Amino acid sequence: MRLDDFFHLPAVTDAFARLMQDQAGLIVIAGLDLLPLKGEAESTLLPSGRTTIFRVLAETLLQSGDAPAALVAVDGHAFRPPRAQRRRLTVWRVPPHEPYAAYVAQAIAQGARLLLVDHLTVETSTAIVAALRAGMQVITQITSAARGVTLVREIEQLGVADHQLPDRFWVLNIRRLAQLCPACRKSQPITPLQRLTLTAVGRPGLDPDASYSVAAGCDHCQRLGRVGSVALFDIGRLERCANGAMHFEAVLALEQYARELALQGVLAFDDVVDLDAVMNRQLTQQFALHQQTLAQTNQVLERRLVELQHANEVLEQRTAAMISFQTIGQALISSTNLHDLAQRVCRHVCELCHADRAVFYMFDPAQQALILAVSGWDAAYVGRAVAGSQLLTRKHEPRAFKGWPPGIRRSMPMYSAASCAPGCVFR
Ligand SMILES: [Zn+2]
Repeated sequence: MRLDDFFHLPAVTDAFARLMQDQAGLIVIAGLDLLPLKGEAESTLLPSGRTTIFRVLAETLLQSGDAPAALVAVDGHAFRPPRAQRRRLTVWRVPPHEPYAAYVAQAIAQGARLLLVDHLTVETSTAIVAALRAGMQVITQITSAARGVTLVREIEQLGVADHQLPDRFWVLNIRRLAQLCPACRKSQPITPLQRLTLTAVGRPGLDPDASYSVAAGCDHCQRLGRVGSVALFDIGRLERCANGAMHFEAVLALEQYARELALQGVLAFDDVVDLDAVMNRQLTQQFALHQQTLAQTNQVLERRLVELQHANEVLEQRTAAMISFQTIGQALISSTNLHDLAQRVCRHVCELCHADRAVFYMFDPAQQALILAVSGWDAAYVGRAVAGSQLLTRKHEPRAFKGWPPGIRRSMPMYSAASCAPGCVFR
């Protein structure tokens, strides 16, 4: 992959050429790549493209020398060197949650002079410091929207202290913005409010009397006014002076690069007048989108939890039914007392159905019924005869009935005083 494979202004080519000649000890490429959450259409913040720049620079560094190199990364495919350079590059794949230090130590022991690390984080900073101390040239990436000296301070906070930094190092920030549709963009003077913004922001270099492009939308851009995206670069160089002081040079400032893109009509005035405000707005939108997605996901999870709880209750009920059927089956095998068996069936039916009362009828060959057992009613009902027609339909199927079942009189006590516990309402 080469720099010429994607659109960029000549200033980037010049800055990269200078970076290669500088033989900097450390090169850090920053950018924000926020992956959309599951179920989210897409991120409002375009992927920065820092990984592409990392690969471009890594490939160029490999081709510019002949010393051994090492890639230490969780993903072994973080960088694929050109075929001619593959023998020079040793790939150390770090299992997730394992420290990088051991793998970097092996790379140092094997004499590697160039180290490629997929990410600069709190976890990897110790290994990177060890590589810098061993005199290796290190190129790595960091997830950050910071640039310039602010980015250097972030690197310091991750664990690479001031005195551990090499005498010369470069920091790059890459971000990406949607570009104006070339089919419908047109040039127009800025509005009074935009002129006021320019004054408030105090950005030098944007001419308030110049015309800038806007795109109202057309069929080509599906009325969005935007087609594709363009990368923006911020490139800085730091050098330790003889007196120990650090000197920062803005080799290519983000504002300068964005302004040039606006003058060429690639970006709108509002895209470039306040780049940090644009980033802030995109992050706020992304945050709101994440919040909305998380709330929806939470609702789905809560609904599924209720479904699972219900399914679990059904399962428990079925398990209890199976146990009851097994108990009844054992009673059928072992018991010779029909009344006792019927009483057990009544009790299990009440338990399974969460019923208060049950009655067990037995038919004789003459289609007369007899109450064989009750649960929840007075035991005096047992043995009472009931007309079969009250229980069966003409097709000899069980008849459904409301209220008290046949043979049980509402006026009669449901419980005998002897069967109730002290304090029972039926007593
Ligand atoms: Zn258009």
